[in-house]
Amino acid sequence: MVNVKVKLEKRSYNIHIDVSASNLIGNFMQTMKVNKKILVISDTTVGNLYGRQMVELLVKDGYAAELCCVSTGEHSKSVDMAMELYTKAITLKLDRNCAIIALGGGVIGDLSGFVAATYLRGVPFIQIPTSLLAQVDSSVGGKVAVNHPMGKNLIGAFYQPRMVLIDINFLSTLPNRELYTGLAEVIKYGMIADKEFFTYLCDHYQQILDKRPEVLTEIVRRSCEIKAWVVEQDECESSIRAILNFGHTIGHAIEADTNFSRYNHGEAVAIGMYGAALISKHLNMCSQATVDILKHILLQFNLPVSAPECGIDDLFKLLYRDKKVLDNKITWVLLNEIGEVKLCNQVPENIVKLALAEITQ
Ligand code: NAD
Ligand code: MG
Repeated sequence: MVNVKVKLEKRSYNIHIDVSASNLIGNFMQTMKVNKKILVISDTTVGNLYGRQMVELLVKDGYAAELCCVSTGEHSKSVDMAMELYTKAITLKLDRNCAIIALGGGVIGDLSGFVAATYLRGVPFIQIPTSLLAQVDSSVGGKVAVNHPMGKNLIGAFYQPRMVLIDINFLSTLPNRELYTGLAEVIKYGMIADKEFFTYLCDHYQQILDKRPEVLTEIVRRSCEIKAWVVEQDECESSIRAILNFGHTIGHAIEADTNFSRYNHGEAVAIGMYGAALISKHLNMCSQATVDILKHILLQFNLPVSAPECGIDDLFKLLYRDKKVLDNKITWVLLNEIGEVKLCNQVPENIVKLALAEITQ
């Protein structure tokens, strides 16, 4: 078992990573000192695959675990769905010491975390992420949220889990496109913080695509370490946590411009990382060779580097609608070299448009 600790004083917690780690759920719950009643939230896809087995393991260890599955997809991250889950929790008479477990991808983690943060002003929350994106990103760091019809993640909180339990075996059933989505965030960690890790990804790309468990364990471990390291320094995103947005400024604009349907998040972030690298090159911060290396690995992981259906002017306008824009200033995360980024809020309009032209070709 590999352990990564997230050190946040009283809110510190462990991330346990292993092949078959979820078999030990009962043992881990015992160390949590929570009541015997547990609500396990999942979506119908993951619930059908792993929900019953999870509940059986908990029941075997003496817990009264109830599985509640919401329908699969981003639309479930809503206030209405949270309300249904509050009703479920009240009906089950969950008290303040009863835990809520999220078993699923980022949608389930964000939704369940939001419910756990607000039900009875907060109950113990455990993340069991099942998609690569959730294992390397959304389950760590404490951002929980639901969407508003006018924008994604507009209603939420910072609420850290008590534990993250990552079972690498879950990835065996993950559809390929979802694997690639998660890999975009994994590449991001290499780009923002660790050249050696980036090289590891390049050297092991075939094993990664083949879902070799020991290689997946390694990339999940290193990604969690990097995310934990950033979050420890800036839990509520007032400074350095912004580096995690590398590729996301343009990525969010692409998602919005294509109605959140043509590209999924990781694909949009991949194009956005390439765009941010191009901006960095035009500002003479990084070399063409660095841009090319990034492009190469994105393509190897079956990720796109351009969005031909988007227009330069539409994307430019959308950049300013991102919720991370403060005082009409965009905080760009730009590249010095692989493994080293810099925040910059003054990029000339013509340079941004030059990069947008290249990624919309
Ligand atoms: P998701 O939860 O919709 O999962 C993607 C798909 O994979 C779903 O169809 C799901 O049923 C399926 N799936 C998950 N695990 C599976 C498995 N083991 N086997 C088979 N199918 C499986 O989406 P996601 O990509 O995991 O997460 C996206 C969400 O995460 C977005 O809502 C995004 O806003 C959020 N997010 C949050 C944070 C954060 O810090 N809180 C960070 C990044 C993303
Ligand atoms: Mg992201």
